[in-house]
Amino acid sequence: MKDIQYVFMDIDGVLYRGHTPLIGAKEFINYLTEHKIKFICVTNNSAKTPADYSRKLKRMGINIHQENIVNSGIATVEYIKEKFLNQKKELSAYVVGGNGLISLIKDAGITIKEKNPDLVIVGWDVDFTYDKMKKASLAIQKGATYIGTNPDTTYPSEEGILPGCGAILASITTASGVEPIIIGKPKSLIMEIAAKRISALKEKSLMIGDRIDTDIQAGKNFGIKTALVLSGVVTRSNLQKYEVSPDYVFEDMMDLYTKLKNIRRV
Ligand SMILES: [Mg+2]
Repeated sequence: MKDIQYVFMDIDGVLYRGHTPLIGAKEFINYLTEHKIKFICVTNNSAKTPADYSRKLKRMGINIHQENIVNSGIATVEYIKEKFLNQKKELSAYVVGGNGLISLIKDAGITIKEKNPDLVIVGWDVDFTYDKMKKASLAIQKGATYIGTNPDTTYPSEEGILPGCGAILASITTASGVEPIIIGKPKSLIMEIAAKRISALKEKSLMIGDRIDTDIQAGKNFGIKTALVLSGVVTRSNLQKYEVSPDYVFEDMMDLYTKLKNIRRV
């Protein structure tokens, strides 16, 4: 912990929950800024843009520039730019997803089309239909590269547990027989994109999250140290039911902040 110079962190359940900032989040971010420890927020939720996140955090007194926030939609587009757009001048995609994802893809200079696209890009889509599943599946069977923004099968809401992007991906996989390239946590691709933003060195990096299956696993897959905060879904007593264990466990961000501050003072 003493040598950490680069911090990757989840947002929801780490910095705030709903509309409530979590204890220690503001102090921790201020500490990182003061001590020139570079940090980046990594979220699978692409419904909100980095600017939205930055504004919401600011209202809670937490100052994070939008450049220091990467969501799975942005990571997907950056991955495509690097991997495909460099080799090919013209690139087309069929997109299943919200307006946010569609505009990111258009802004990258990728043409949106339904027939014979180079790529099929799939994100969370509240207007997902059989017709979209059909178009995606047909394009993939004809050889389009199948890319999914994030693997989250569900997400919690007031109504209960609702289908996430992973549920949509599963239907297209079942229909086409092809597994997608997944960008979001726990996969490393989103971590690689985030790492580039802050020029992170892996041996001096830490990933902080409230979920084992996404955040901690993403840190492990990427090959960096991991810290779990118990302000989310995991409790100390159910920690051992997971196969993966974090390098460090903290009660909340205040606990992490206090310990980090003390250890760096020594
Ligand atoms: Mg979280």
